[in-house]
Parts: sequence; structure tokens; C-alpha cells
Amino acid sequence: MKNIILTIGAIVIGLTCIAQEYDENAEKYSKTITAGELKEHLYIIASDKFEGRETGKKGQKMAMDYLIQNFKSFGINPPENQEFTQTFNLVEQTTKNVNLTIGDKEYAVLKDFSISPSIIVKQNLENEIVLVGYGIEEDDYNNYAELDVKGKAVFIMDGMPKKSKISGEWSMKKRIELAKKKGASLVMYHSSKLKDNLIKYEHYYSKPKLVLKEDVDENETIALATTTAVAEEITTQAGMKWKKLVKKGMKEENGQTLKFTLNIDKPTEYLTSENVLAFIPGTEKPEECIILTAHYDHIGKEGDVVFNGADDDGTGTVTMLEIAQAFQQAVVDSTGPKRSILIMPVSGEEKGLLGSRYYSNHPIFPLENTVANLNVDMIGRYDESHSEEDNYIYLIGSDKLSSELHDVSEKVNELYTKIDLDYTFNDENDSNRFYYRSDHYNFAKNNVPVIFYFSGVHEDYHKETDTVEKIDYDKTARVARLVFLTAWELANREDRIKLDEN
Ligand SMILES: [Zn+2]
Repeated sequence: MKNIILTIGAIVIGLTCIAQEYDENAEKYSKTITAGELKEHLYIIASDKFEGRETGKKGQKMAMDYLIQNFKSFGINPPENQEFTQTFNLVEQTTKNVNLTIGDKEYAVLKDFSISPSIIVKQNLENEIVLVGYGIEEDDYNNYAELDVKGKAVFIMDGMPKKSKISGEWSMKKRIELAKKKGASLVMYHSSKLKDNLIKYEHYYSKPKLVLKEDVDENETIALATTTAVAEEITTQAGMKWKKLVKKGMKEENGQTLKFTLNIDKPTEYLTSENVLAFIPGTEKPEECIILTAHYDHIGKEGDVVFNGADDDGTGTVTMLEIAQAFQQAVVDSTGPKRSILIMPVSGEEKGLLGSRYYSNHPIFPLENTVANLNVDMIGRYDESHSEEDNYIYLIGSDKLSSELHDVSEKVNELYTKIDLDYTFNDENDSNRFYYRSDHYNFAKNNVPVIFYFSGVHEDYHKETDTVEKIDYDKTARVARLVFLTAWELANREDRIKLDEN
């Protein structure tokens, strides 16, 4: 049975390959994408005036205005009944004003403990701490399941005592989940790696956190990870001996009653940000849509130092402008694409793919009618495994959901652009995990086939030195043409590309 399906599949793919022929128009419009125009746009949006285009801040709004003004000047409109922007709400919190006292000791956030979720509404908690489930017998944990922890804090030890005969089934995760389910107001857990992590990732931990407002769950149980030193103090204050505890586990659930207070009043800011929507309606199958994305936000500025983000992702952003103009020229010539094209520069990427996440939660075109997403993020430089002579681009994701998409992409490149397509980072086991690290992922997780175009990380990545004079504009133009030509083929071919069965 399987073999027959495979054979039929092969014939179908074979036929579509034959159908994919050289298209004079495609080539003609792709040539309207020029290095000179890309450069002109990039020198504007990646200038100091745009203040590093930080999500929700002045520079991002300036870049948004610039994009809209250009789309308008090309004669492009937003999708029907839509504005040029899709606006979303954000909440930002710093890490300040978190005060914890346990017994008679005060502890400092990001030194003694870390706290989650990243956004917490004002809270004043005060109750006792119950030390739970850290034993050598299964029963020690079963007793924990019987304990009344409602409204209290539970304290959970990392891992198992040395002498424990139990493995796996009473994992820390399970103990944390149980505490939450039983209505604990706070979960404290000992993390032996925390101290090192707080030092190593200090920059990340201390930064304000920004999330979509719709993702804030006010009822989420607060969890607090403590360092080993703090865990030792807590257990000692509760009348237990640390060394004995680590070795032999805990027989009684609590030595002495231990009280805690936790006051949280973190400075909170409410912001809005925008995805930009430029729309080319399809002439024959307007309900089917190909979405092109690039994030136009970057990481802002620190004091007077502007992070220009020329490559990240200025190159992708200006590529969106040039591709839009190429498609619009076809529309003017009455040879517009058969399927619709949504060109969507998104924001919030640097804060955690927020703009594309919002779009995938609130799609303007149903995701099941979205044929593919082509995402462009950093295409103007070379990484350390390539030189300036190398005519290459990394492609990620092209074969993950639709092998037909992969074939289309390969064929387009063979017919027109002849770039060395490098699939190094497409490997499932690649430790960089780039497949999960840019906006296409929010489409892929919803079963929309994607291709991510990327020229790799360089020494100026996320530094103030990612500037316009270091960009190779000819290379950027070549990749932009490949993206345009792939979108053109996806929009104009007879049958919509299919998802693979598995
Ligand atoms: Zn980026």
C-alpha cells in the first residue's frame, strides 16, 4: 500500500517539476530588485535617527512609518477592510521591587533567587513554608501528595537524596506541578545550577521583560528558584541538617514552622507595537495567500549607543520593500500573481517573536489558506565558514513540512539565481536551533510550510557595530530575488503546494 502511494506521489511531483518552467515575467520583475535601492532604504532605517528600532519605542514607530509611506508610494494597499498595521498590546516589567524574607533573613532577587513568570501583578504573600517530598522511599512522596499546602509556600529540593531508590517518577517537575495543583501560593525550589546561571546570563536576567498582554496569566502560580546557599539556610532555619538531608532525605515533612513574606511591586509599562501589512490581491485564487516576513524591530539603544541592526534585520526589512515593489509592478502591468501575497514586516522579534506570534494567534488570512511563509532575517553578511567570494545562503525549514516547497525552491534557484543553497543549519540536531529562532517558527508550528533565509551569525551580531557599510548589497539583492522568485512561483503555479503526509 505504502509503495503505491509513494509511486503516485512521485509521478505527481514529477509532473509539477516539468510544469515549473522558465518564466520571462518572473525574471523581468525580479530585476527591479536592485542593490542600489536596497542600500538607499537601509541607510535610512539603520541610521542613528531610528534609534535601533526597539519594539514599542520611537525608533520602531519611525521605521513603521517609513515602510507604510513606501508601500503607499508604490500604490500598494493593506488587505481589504484592514489598516496598514496590525496593532498588539505588550506589558513590560523590570526585575526591581521583589522583596523576600524567609524566617529572619532577607534575600535579594537575581542574587539569591530568580522568579517566574516574567510578568507578575502586584502581590503581598505571607504564610508558612512546607518542605515537601524529598525522600528515599516512594511513600515519602506519596505523603507529600496528602499534605495540605493550600495558600502556603512549598519548598522542593533539587533531584533526589543520594540514597534514594526511586528514579524518575517523582521528578522535580512532577513535584512542582503537584504543588501548583494543590493550591500552593508559591513554589520555591532549590536549583543547584542557579548561582552559575545568574552570573553567566546576568545580562539576560537583569533586562526588562516584554510579553504580549494576552499571554499574561494573572493566576499563574509564582515559582521561585533558590541557590544552594539559600536552600541550605532555609532547611537549617527549619531545624534540619543540610548534609544529612542531601544524603538521606527527609522523613518528617517539616522540622519547625518557618514563615515567609514576599512583596512584589515591579515597575510596569504598557506598550503597543505593530506588524505592517502590505497586500497584493491574487487575480485567480485571492483566498490563498503566501506570506513574506522580516522583522523590522531591533534591540534599541543603551544611553547614546545605538544598535543599528543593519544586517539584523535591516536587510530583511528593505528586502520586503523591494519585493513589494516588484510584485506591484506586475499588478500595474496586469500580470499580477494568481494567489495573494501578504508582505508583512513584523515587530517584537527581538523580544521573543512577539509580532509573528500575535499574527498567528490572530491571522488575517486563515492559516489553513496560507500556502507558505518565506522569512528573511539577516542576509547581507558572511559567517566565519564563508568568504566574501562565496555566493551562498543558508536555507532552513524548506523540507520540514512540504517536500514540494523544497523542490520548488531548488528549481527556482536553478532556473534563475544560482546561489549555493547551504542546508547546514537545517539539520534537526544542529545545536543553534535556528529553526525555532525567527518569525517563521510561528507559522511552522501551525503547519504552514516555511523557508527561512539567513546568511549566518557574524562578529557584529547584536552589537553596535552591525552597521550599513559592512553589508554586501549585491549579495542581499541576489537573495532578495531568490525570495521574490520563489514567492512568484508559489503564487502562480497551477496547484497549491501540498503538505507531506507525515
Ligand atoms: Zn533577527
